[in-house]
Amino acid sequence: MSDALSLWPRDRWNEALLENAHPPAWRNPEPAARYDLVVLGGGTAGLVSAIVSAGLGARVALVEKALLGGDCLNYGCVPSKTLLRSARAVADARDAARFGVRVPDGIAVDFAAVMERVRRVRAEISPHDSARRYAELGVDVFLGEGRFAGRDVLEVAGARLRFKRAVVATGARAAPPSIPGLAEAGHLTNETVFSLVERPARLAVIGAGPVGCELAQAFQRLGSQVSLIEVADQVLVREDPDAAALVQAALAADGVELLLGAKILNVARAGAAKRLRVAHGAGERDLEVDEVLVGVGRAPNVLGIGLEAAGIAFDPVRGVHVNDQLRTANPRVFAAGDVCLAAKFTHAADAAAKLVVRNAFFFGRRRAQDLLVPWCTYTDPEIAHVGLYARDAAGQGIALDTFEVPLAGNDRSRADGEAAGFLKIHVRKGKDAIAGATVVGRHAGDLLAPLALAMSNGIGLGRLVDLILPYPTQSELLKAAAGAYTRTRLTPLAARVLRALIRLAR
Ligand SMILES: Cc1cc2nc3c(=O)[nH]c(=O)nc-3n(C[C@H](O)[C@H](O)[C@H](O)COP(=O)(O)OP(=O)(O)OC[C@H]3O[C@@H](n4cnc5c(N)ncnc54)[C@H](O)[C@@H]3O)c2cc1C
Repeated sequence: MSDALSLWPRDRWNEALLENAHPPAWRNPEPAARYDLVVLGGGTAGLVSAIVSAGLGARVALVEKALLGGDCLNYGCVPSKTLLRSARAVADARDAARFGVRVPDGIAVDFAAVMERVRRVRAEISPHDSARRYAELGVDVFLGEGRFAGRDVLEVAGARLRFKRAVVATGARAAPPSIPGLAEAGHLTNETVFSLVERPARLAVIGAGPVGCELAQAFQRLGSQVSLIEVADQVLVREDPDAAALVQAALAADGVELLLGAKILNVARAGAAKRLRVAHGAGERDLEVDEVLVGVGRAPNVLGIGLEAAGIAFDPVRGVHVNDQLRTANPRVFAAGDVCLAAKFTHAADAAAKLVVRNAFFFGRRRAQDLLVPWCTYTDPEIAHVGLYARDAAGQGIALDTFEVPLAGNDRSRADGEAAGFLKIHVRKGKDAIAGATVVGRHAGDLLAPLALAMSNGIGLGRLVDLILPYPTQSELLKAAAGAYTRTRLTPLAARVLRALIRLAR
């Protein structure tokens, strides 16, 4: 059974999603004699490669075996952020008294309605990625499982698609860790969790990375008792430690049970429940829950797609091997997105796809290493980051000056009761070139945008001090950080000269 047909529950929203992302009555077109581009996989990387190439006049075939839109639309960004929004509504209602507002009858979460909203939003967004839309834009859409049958040919549903160029964009899938008994006991992943219609009363989330933290907080706020189990001693190990500590404190304040530095020894069924044996601290304990959600582990989809026949090098951990132009060992074939990138994000897949189109058709020499890829974890508060971390810089022998401003010093953050967090900007020592930045706060992802713009356009931190921004906004924090920077550039001599000029003024 195809993944598309296993969409659950079969309500009107999932029927609408299917009608766009994998129309049951779809008839594949008659293949062209030869395509300029054949794209294997219709997630973000595949869709963007296809639409940009078709827009430039190329003859393009797009092959998708399950749901167009891939992980982002169906099992990733869209459903998770929609769920998080409901969870935030709970937190806002819970905190209403802080703003002088009483919620006299307490808060009741209608979990079924929350999940229906997730399905509705996903269905409403899906026309954008639909088979019909792509066909109307001139792309030949083939629904079926594709595999390379040679260096310049791909087979799908009995058709042979010959190509001048191809893109492997088959993405990645959940790859649960090998814990004894986990598979037998059954567990949820990002591919199944958004199908829930009943709230698990007790939920164990394995892995405190971005997916684990976001979903742990969401389910806790929606009324589950969540235990978040992580082998490291802190959540979000990749992040700036000060930033991760704030998210960790927020999770604990929400009531998430944090089992850090913990190892799951085995999982077993216990009637309708599941029992996890966990080594934590000096001892071991049993944790009984109703569901286990695996929030860690992604494996690139490289097996069974004929990469060997096409002469494309790969391995099951890193995925498809590409050079800096994202070209594979077969010079006709490129790769983009989660199947080949370490940065497994939708916007990275999008940027990589555009780079591939340039390099495939326009003698481009665009390099993946030149892409500046920021990211954000959408917990509350969010953590957003771009560029170097302090530890990366230290490892590369790059000296930094760091400027940090707390959200508590920003009038709007105070007015909104959103003062938890900070903005930290690293510049190369003695220069104003921004080397990296981390923002923690409720709107960190949006606050990061101007810093990504500044970095990608070589705008130094010093220039942001003269920026005029509306008052009161949280974005004024940028100016505060720039101000902190410029103050350090005022030498004692310059300060004396300025004071003298002020004295002379009449
Ligand atoms: C829970 C979760 C939340 C996330 N949240 C965010 C977020 O907020 N922001 C963000 O930037 N990123 C987020 N991501 C990551 C993001 O979803 C991925 O980086 C993005 O979807 C990658 O796009 P892709 O095109 O490379 O792969 P995919 O979206 O996985 O698409 C690959 C497609 O290829 C198809 N395919 C595979 N094999 C074949 C075959 N043989 N024949 C035909 N078709 C095939 C698959 O069915 C799939 O549709 C999240 C991920 C998860 C799991």
